Amino acid sequence: MAAAYRIEGVVCARYKLGESDRILHIYSDRGMVRAVAKGSRKPKSRFTGRLEPFCHVNALMATGKSLHIVSQVELLDAHDKLKHDLNSIAVGSAMLSLVERVSEHEADPGQMLPLLVAALRRLDSPATGSKKGHDPLVLLSAFELKVAAVLGHRPSFGHCVSCGEAQTSVKGSIRFDLEQAGMICGSCAKGVPMGNTVVDLSQASARVITNLTEKPLAQLDRLSLTDAQVREVRSALQMFLSFHLELNIKSYRFLARYLNFAGKRQQ
Ligand SMILES: [Zn+2]
Repeated sequence: MAAAYRIEGVVCARYKLGESDRILHIYSDRGMVRAVAKGSRKPKSRFTGRLEPFCHVNALMATGKSLHIVSQVELLDAHDKLKHDLNSIAVGSAMLSLVERVSEHEADPGQMLPLLVAALRRLDSPATGSKKGHDPLVLLSAFELKVAAVLGHRPSFGHCVSCGEAQTSVKGSIRFDLEQAGMICGSCAKGVPMGNTVVDLSQASARVITNLTEKPLAQLDRLSLTDAQVREVRSALQMFLSFHLELNIKSYRFLARYLNFAGKRQQ
């Protein structure tokens, strides 16, 4: 007899299988689960509306011979509102892709679930896209930094990684050492060539990155960022995340196009 188990999770992706089935990737409290939902593409399937990307679910699973099988699904939240906004879809898809991409690197599978659920919930609430209320790109940046922290890559700008000088006494611009996830002060930066592992960063953006890493998502609405700051932070994070997590994935290329559009719109 097949063993049954329960999971709580978020549907990250789904693919057609055969005539009427689907394969689902659900990021759950047990890590990423890949399972078949039989008959889920039939018009009157009991799974309709419950197993789409972004759905937060409780599911009863059965262990099959090669693939696990979804037997029952309780929908906790479909996060439908975010699907009406292209920016939110782009950012939400990037979150799901990131989780899918990095889930196998988790030492303790399932740790990112509370973060993913909280981030989708915020994305699903009305976004203003202005400096008041949450900005999807600020939310995504915070999400990425918190995911990186779960995986052991937490930026810290408190002291220069080379000489130990405190950030509070460093004047002028600094550099972000991606590999060591820390700051290189202006004096030490003179001997360090720029390249794939070191990028320029303003101190203001370093403080933003620290806030996004450390503050709960619910407190981020109070951060007020200029468009130029958002662009500088996004650029630094892309480099940081690519270095540690190899983020060359489809949703991020889509997001990059969206960002180009957003950048043009601001001019
Ligand atoms: Zn230094």
